[in-house]
Amino acid sequence: EREIYASEARFSALIQQSSDITLVIDSKGIIKFASPSVETKIRIPVKSLIGSNIINAVGVKKTSLKTINVLKELNSGQKVAPFEAEVVDADGNIHTFECVINDLRNDSAVRGIVCNSRDISDRKSAEIQIMKAKALYESALENAPIGVALVHQDGQCFFANEALAEFLGKEPADVNATRIRDFVYPDDRFAFSNMWDSLEQRPTERTTKELRFEHPDGRHRWGNISIQAAYDDDVFQYHVVQIEDTTERRSIAERLEYQAIHDPLTGLPNRLLFVDRLEVALSRSKRTGLGVSVLFLDLDRFKVINDSLGHVSGDQLLVVASKRIKASVRPNDTLARFGGDEFVILCEDITDENQIHEIAQRLLENINRPIMLGDGEVYVTASIGIARSLSGEDTPETILRDADTAMYRAKDSGRNRAEVFDERTHARAVANLETGNGMYRALSQNEFRMRYQPIINLKSGRLTGFEALVYWQDPHRGHVGPADFIGLAEETGVIVPLGLKILEEACIEIARWNSFSSQASQLTMSVNLSPRQISEPTFVEEVRKILERTKVNPARIWFEITETALMVDADSTIAMLDQLKNLGVHFEVDDFGTGFSSLSYLKKFPVDALKIDQGFVDGLGREPEDTAIVTAVVSLSHALGLQAIAEGVETPLQMAELKTLGCEFAQGYLFARPNHADTWDDVVRDDGLFIFQDEPTK
Ligand code: C2E
Ligand code: MG
Ligand code: MG
Repeated sequence: EREIYASEARFSALIQQSSDITLVIDSKGIIKFASPSVETKIRIPVKSLIGSNIINAVGVKKTSLKTINVLKELNSGQKVAPFEAEVVDADGNIHTFECVINDLRNDSAVRGIVCNSRDISDRKSAEIQIMKAKALYESALENAPIGVALVHQDGQCFFANEALAEFLGKEPADVNATRIRDFVYPDDRFAFSNMWDSLEQRPTERTTKELRFEHPDGRHRWGNISIQAAYDDDVFQYHVVQIEDTTERRSIAERLEYQAIHDPLTGLPNRLLFVDRLEVALSRSKRTGLGVSVLFLDLDRFKVINDSLGHVSGDQLLVVASKRIKASVRPNDTLARFGGDEFVILCEDITDENQIHEIAQRLLENINRPIMLGDGEVYVTASIGIARSLSGEDTPETILRDADTAMYRAKDSGRNRAEVFDERTHARAVANLETGNGMYRALSQNEFRMRYQPIINLKSGRLTGFEALVYWQDPHRGHVGPADFIGLAEETGVIVPLGLKILEEACIEIARWNSFSSQASQLTMSVNLSPRQISEPTFVEEVRKILERTKVNPARIWFEITETALMVDADSTIAMLDQLKNLGVHFEVDDFGTGFSSLSYLKKFPVDALKIDQGFVDGLGREPEDTAIVTAVVSLSHALGLQAIAEGVETPLQMAELKTLGCEFAQGYLFARPNHADTWDDVVRDDGLFIFQDEPTK
């Protein structure tokens, strides 16, 4: 008895202390016993449960139905496996219980069905959380924009996300079970292996490297790969491999790098890259003693073409020129474009100066060939400056400066040629710079003066007009001829205001002569025009104002334009000349035969006369070629309804030949040298009769 009592007490104590809920129900589900833990677990008093039916007591429909089933199974003698049940507590919260049923209806001590229930709500919600988290991570991994793979110790993939598969151009299934290394671009596999090996030395660190990966389309991709080991309780699980696609970033970076050192129009190296290569070449030359040569090439009058034809054509021209230059030099020479129409060539290993001259000559010849632009042909020439460093001691800056200086000398001595730098060139360049600066000052100080050279009507032998020629009376250097400063005046822009001043003075002079004789009001005045002036938008208006101010009949003004200025069949040039022509002025082509152009422009431009260049007149009657050319030009003029003027006539023979050919006008030292306006006053008064009719006296 004592033993039974002790056992009961022990049992009761266990029940009282247990956090599990123990219920005893009968075959209908009526609750006979409930352990006190119901009050702590679901806060329902034991008293209110006793006698009520468990089917109703749980408060959750799903569990009620389950309970009905359990009772059915028990009543039909079956065993019931443990199950989960949800129960509502006094506060309305749902708890999940794990229930174990023991049918002890036949046990005389119990006489009921025992249900042991343990609250597993916390465990349950933790499980749900884990599941949710797992799903979340999986979807995050799967949908990550960056490629992710989980990789075994041996490098074999067992998970790859969509982004990685796409990056590699494969299906995710194909990525799995492949070694990561096999996707790496063959040239980068060594680097990858090094990276993989380093994982063993620093197992907890993340290693990162940018590598190329193969792609089925044949073009490799750049990827930033990072690998980190994942551990669970210090035990290695797998490697997490991330690959970020950096192909685009790479190509932008590469492009930027390329752009920084190349000229976008021609794709040639720019100044930056050139100077770099020049530096390398110089230090190499110090060792080899072979010397370095730099050719500085500048297209002649490119600005005229660019301004008149437009920038698109200008660009095309530069591209063609760059190709021709490239084709004229050796493949190892560096050709760069410094911007505008400046090209620079670096030649190494040239010991013989003649070789450099040959290259320069080849360049000039190749550039001289006509260039098709739109539906017209353009002729360009170039001026080349050459500088050499034999010791390798020079700096890139000084060599480039010297080549540039020599190039300017090539321009000054008539363009379309090459000049080698020497110290004299340098001194001259410095002087030139001073001249350039001094020019604006000279203009404001009235240092530009005019001389006039008579033009003779060959039939009558009388004066028909003058050509206005400018010169510079420099207070320090004295008389400076136009050949020495017109080029610079064009480059500096001084020619624009200077040209207007020249026109105005020339007009004032012929207006002054008006009353001198019966013929004086018919005298013509030839005025030279620079291309730079024609491209000035206000030019026509300025000319109109000057003619109005000086009251000169526009028909007496003959503008001289060189062939080269007209060389481009430019709509804008034609338009400008047409507008001038509408004022009533005349045009003549100066230095005819020396420029490069097709004859078709003669039809398009409103030209009235051709002025045969002195170079051809020179050999007239002596040299068969010159005679043939002058003959041809005079016939051409007449065939086109134009007049012919010969300039630079120095001998009676030349004059006689010109007369025979029917050339209308002549100008030259034979008749008179250019001189100041007032020296011609008497000649004008005399109707030009003094000049000579038949018996020239020099
Ligand atoms: P151009 O227009 O062909 O002028 C003719 C040049 O030949 C003048 O030289 C003249 O003095 C020279 N000359 C005339 N007759 C003879 C001769 O019988 N023998 C020789 N050997 N030479 C003769 P200049 O004055 O030195 O002018 C040179 C060039 O400068 C001109 O060539 C012209 O292109 C330019 N120029 C002169 N004045 C002006 C001007 O006012 N404006 C512009 N834009 N250019 C000008
Ligand atoms: Mg002239
Ligand atoms: Mg001339």
